[in-house]
Amino acid sequence: MAYTLGAMKYRKVVLLLLLALTSTAALGQASFTVGTATAASGQMATGFIEVPAGVDAATSIPVAVFRGAKPGPVLALVSGAHGTEYASIIALEKLIQSLDPAQISGTVIIVPLVNIQSFAQKVPHVNPVDGKSMNRFYPGKRDGTQTERASLLITQQVVERCDYLIDYHGGDLDENLRPYSYWPKTGNTTHDAKTREMALAFGLDHIIISADRPQEAQASRYLDNTANTRGKPAIAVEAGYSGTVQPEDVQALVDGTLSVMRFLKMLPGSPTVVEHPTWFGKIDTVASDQPGIFYPLVQRGTYVEQGMKIGYVTDYFGKTIYEAHAPAAGVVLYICAVPSMKKGDTVANIGEITKNP
Ligand SMILES: [Zn+2]
Repeated sequence: MAYTLGAMKYRKVVLLLLLALTSTAALGQASFTVGTATAASGQMATGFIEVPAGVDAATSIPVAVFRGAKPGPVLALVSGAHGTEYASIIALEKLIQSLDPAQISGTVIIVPLVNIQSFAQKVPHVNPVDGKSMNRFYPGKRDGTQTERASLLITQQVVERCDYLIDYHGGDLDENLRPYSYWPKTGNTTHDAKTREMALAFGLDHIIISADRPQEAQASRYLDNTANTRGKPAIAVEAGYSGTVQPEDVQALVDGTLSVMRFLKMLPGSPTVVEHPTWFGKIDTVASDQPGIFYPLVQRGTYVEQGMKIGYVTDYFGKTIYEAHAPAAGVVLYICAVPSMKKGDTVANIGEITKNP
């Protein structure tokens, strides 16, 4: 009798254990909330990060949350800090439409358009509500202007909740830009190895080494830097130019994201890693010392020698008043795309090539 009783008890325990395991698998992960979006395991939800009114108007930033059925890291994808860098915004719109939460291990937070007023009003570079760039005021301020209040909520609800982050940009309305990514070099070897692999997995074949970003979490300024100073590996990527939405630019950003998700084991398969990228150790900004009409002489992506004339500015009667020359040999990462030129405006950014770091 004792034996039978023992066996029954044993069987009961095994049965309970099996039940517990099955129900955990069926339930998947707990739900995940960002702003007003709460996604259950294996589901996608949309909502808004509500930025309350303060010294200026309130705003609502759209957010989509993909809660995978299986556990894994939390990856945040953010675009549209500059609301007229359209290719990057459309790339995240495509990902919102195409990602399948049932296939994802982990969680993806997508914020496709941070700067809605810039997008709606077609105002480049800044948030027209307060005249501030929405990628310069992190980690944000509760009592600041709209950009600062929005930055604080993105820091708290997106950056602090994620394990990895990608910030998407591109050439703005007035920037004729060739695609590239940034590898932020912080000096922390383990962290830098991870971000380097993310940049290589993203697949863009021009990579800027940025070693000059603030080290202090409370002075992080940029979004990717806000994540990196909080121990979350983050890269920034750029594709698209001059207000256009070219299919190849959008595709490069979509494919790069999926490849990073494979690298992070959030999707099955292997990442497509760029094998021989061109690395840039220094960026030279050429600025006009005269206001007037700008004429470019080179295209985005052109290799230029030191001293080469890359464009010029005339007065309103066609007389040349300024010549822009490359300060060093390198690649034209972007050049001004429009004739409008103010004194001090950027004519071009030239990337100086360095060896594989
Ligand atoms: Zn930008």
